[in-house]
Amino acid sequence: MSGAQGLIFDEPLLWEMGSPGRVAYAMPSQDVPAQPVDATLTGPGPDFPDLSEPEIVRHYTRLSQWNLSVDSAMYPLGSCTMKYNPKTNERQAGLPGIAQAHPLLPTALRQGLLRLMFDLEKFLAEITGLDAVTLQPAAGAQGELTGMLIFYAYHARQGRPRTKILIPDTAHGTNPASAALCGFQAVHVPSGPDGILEPQTVAALMDDDTAGIMVTNPNTLGLFESNIRQVAGIVHQRNGLVYADGANMNAVLGVVDMAAMGVDILHLNLHKTFSTPHGGGGPGAGPVCVAQKLAPYLPVPRVVRAGDQYLLSDDAPLSVGKLHAFYGNFGMLVRAYSYILSLGPELHKVSQLAVLNANYIKAGLKDHYHLPYDRTCMHECVFSDKQQVAHKVSALDIAKRLIDYGFHPPTIYFPLVVSGAMMIEPTESESKETLDHFIEALRAIAKEAETDPDLLHQAPHIAKLRRLDEVQAARKPQLAG
Ligand SMILES: *Cc1c(COP(=O)(O)O)cnc(C)c1O
Repeated sequence: MSGAQGLIFDEPLLWEMGSPGRVAYAMPSQDVPAQPVDATLTGPGPDFPDLSEPEIVRHYTRLSQWNLSVDSAMYPLGSCTMKYNPKTNERQAGLPGIAQAHPLLPTALRQGLLRLMFDLEKFLAEITGLDAVTLQPAAGAQGELTGMLIFYAYHARQGRPRTKILIPDTAHGTNPASAALCGFQAVHVPSGPDGILEPQTVAALMDDDTAGIMVTNPNTLGLFESNIRQVAGIVHQRNGLVYADGANMNAVLGVVDMAAMGVDILHLNLHKTFSTPHGGGGPGAGPVCVAQKLAPYLPVPRVVRAGDQYLLSDDAPLSVGKLHAFYGNFGMLVRAYSYILSLGPELHKVSQLAVLNANYIKAGLKDHYHLPYDRTCMHECVFSDKQQVAHKVSALDIAKRLIDYGFHPPTIYFPLVVSGAMMIEPTESESKETLDHFIEALRAIAKEAETDPDLLHQAPHIAKLRRLDEVQAARKPQLAG
């Protein structure tokens, strides 16, 4: 349907290709006597394959084509915001003065870089409504860890360290992990029948040993926590803090003021919302934004302005310390800065379109798949495999079959509150035609589930690799190739 069929090349190892003596390009003939690299080295030299330049170029180009990426197709992986990253951001990050800057440059030679950080902090503060920002954490989860360290430091400073954190069942899985890493006990908060938090549940659990709450808003069901102000009020009344997991900020950019919602601290995922590349464990950035009362605890160094000079300052006696070498993944900061400046006052349209696209998909599929929470969603919608299970077809089968139709599968079996969940996040970057193709593909699969379930059990049929043994892959990974 997306035009992706056939032409999947088999690719041998480099050592199985080429021919002895073949080279990629000719070096000039040498005009000095040959010397061994290291006279103590004996035995045969390294086993390099002998290949021509086109053989090498095609080998790596073909391997790269085995991957699906946002640059090749829609990638509706819920909770991951796999949106298109405009190439202009790459261009700015690759400018020699930026890409080749050394982190130990003297202050006078890095004024532009410091100003970029200073301004980006200001932008993120304005976008979230919070007062101060650190750009240091390298990922969303590290932002959460920073937040939990600040929770701890704040309560310790009040003279009464606290031991527990409230975490709703619709939170991202990294939330309880980050709380536990800091020695907090995660207290499970069940969401109500509408898929959102109920104030009375929070009130019953909040006590003086509880440091605060971690809320993902919009939550992992793609629903806006509309009781958030009441919930924040209950937590604040017992001197607790409110942490918002802002990885899903893509749904509410320029629309929601986090501080007005009662949030004290929040992390952002630049590699989701602010259009910097992610996936494959590459560099990310999880800036943390805080209300004024928490600013003294932010990691050092802080970027400060003294007159017309920008400086890095370690002068923060209450700081939780350092979370990353130097200042975090600087290249990601440049891309986010470029993205924000290129959209300017139009930034809120990102979220309006992301929400519109998700609701379009929800409307297009709700007669074909079970929709556990039938409410207006934010940037993602969550279906389940309940209707297909009747034909012995699971969310996994549906996801695998989507590959045959040329689409990356959505997130499945998450969030945990929905059994057989399929979590679809189209993002704002897809056109109506692509969304229509995607909806058609999932409708066709729903029909196949009734008429030919075996076709789905065997899927994918048109793919480099077929159904993988995922348990075996996780238990006994072969890392040596
Ligand atoms: C992605 C995500 C995270 C974790 O971010 P990483 O950068 O992968 O560590 C946390 N919370 C939510 C809601 C997310 O979507």
